[in-house]
Amino acid sequence: MNILVLNCGSSSVKFQLIATDVELIAQNADRRLARGVIERIGGEAIITLHAEGREAQRSTAPLRDTRAAVELIIRWACSETSGIDTVKSVADVHAIGHRVVHGGERFTHSVLITDEVLRGIEDCIDLAPLHNPANIKGITAAREVFGVGLPQAAVFDTAFHQTLPDRAYLYALPYQLYRRHRIRRYGFHGTSHRYVAYRYRQLRNIARDETNVITLHLGNGCSAAAIRRGDSIDTSMGLTPLEGLVMGTRSGDLDPAIIDFIAAKEGLSAQEVETLLNKQSGLIGISGLTNDMRELLAEAREHDDRRARLAVEIFCYRVRKYIGAYLAAMNGADAIIFTGGIGENSVEVRALICDGLQWLGLELDEERNAAQREGREGIISHDNSRLAAYVIPTDEELLIARDTVRCVRGVPQRF
Ligand code: AMP
Repeated sequence: MNILVLNCGSSSVKFQLIATDVELIAQNADRRLARGVIERIGGEAIITLHAEGREAQRSTAPLRDTRAAVELIIRWACSETSGIDTVKSVADVHAIGHRVVHGGERFTHSVLITDEVLRGIEDCIDLAPLHNPANIKGITAAREVFGVGLPQAAVFDTAFHQTLPDRAYLYALPYQLYRRHRIRRYGFHGTSHRYVAYRYRQLRNIARDETNVITLHLGNGCSAAAIRRGDSIDTSMGLTPLEGLVMGTRSGDLDPAIIDFIAAKEGLSAQEVETLLNKQSGLIGISGLTNDMRELLAEAREHDDRRARLAVEIFCYRVRKYIGAYLAAMNGADAIIFTGGIGENSVEVRALICDGLQWLGLELDEERNAAQREGREGIISHDNSRLAAYVIPTDEELLIARDTVRCVRGVPQRF
């Protein structure tokens, strides 16, 4: 089956076309046909379209809305210029898989989208006011372009973390706030944590219930997950993706009293403080320079910039604290796994995080660490390290495509 994977944001659409099916999944023989991103939808959009094995095509065009973007993608995929020989008409797309950010407590697995499911996703808008509406737009746009008959699946960022026990997902707030408003930890990046945990057990040739790892998704957004016997039992993001690790522009954990304090001192509304915590904090807030880890490392190295160095240090220190906390929460783990743009590529950040964890039995292998970048996967610790460390590039789109196939074929999902 050719699956179109869509990740629709407020003004962007990311997509991949992936050929997969039940047997291909079993053989790990799925094939990416194309990928791309359309940004600045609503104005002169910036379009990148990239068929596998060909040069990426970049252009701009005025695009009114998500529907126009989806139309453009499918028109391109079917055209001669794309060079995708297995997609010649709309009928060659057999199903669509959507990344949906928030599934609340209702969606514990990926599901085929019905009107009722769509209402369920709408019910979660409260919890993800920026993301779920954009995801819904993507679903309705795809229905309009492909017709309601084409199966569409929703794959939720929160679903993998629905196995958290109540002691991990409840905040120490009045319990009725959970009852009334479902205020609790949901966690995000679930598809990524799930994917790398799955790849880890493939690499080690072990069973799901032998998988005891801490997964670290370190990209522009960052989160950690404690995975015990294959299940997520704790994770660092909370009700929203603001909690936990230091991120590109997000603060992560802080004393909640700070919000009111900033509001009073700076004359800001609660909404404005929330924006400050989401958009002007984290790496960019500390450094005053950039949210881009690569640039921060370069600034620290080449210009000895104190705040750039501090931003990197605080970032790594927070990750280390979470590793320690999760090792305690899960009675020890076999490995930590790095993924995301920073986790997959930064030899230096991985070394800084692991430095100081020798007492836990984590012995980083310098050569192995230096070799794992630009999409390579593998172990980066010594063979005799008691706690192993791995780099596993994430592939959320592949998992979305596979879940879509499983939903369409009615086979159980492997979580
Ligand atoms: P993501 O959101 O997963 O695309 O990750 C984006 C982050 O990864 C940005 O902070 C980038 O600076 C960072 N990144 C990508 N490549 C490298 C690299 N070679 N070294 C350090 N950070 C990197």
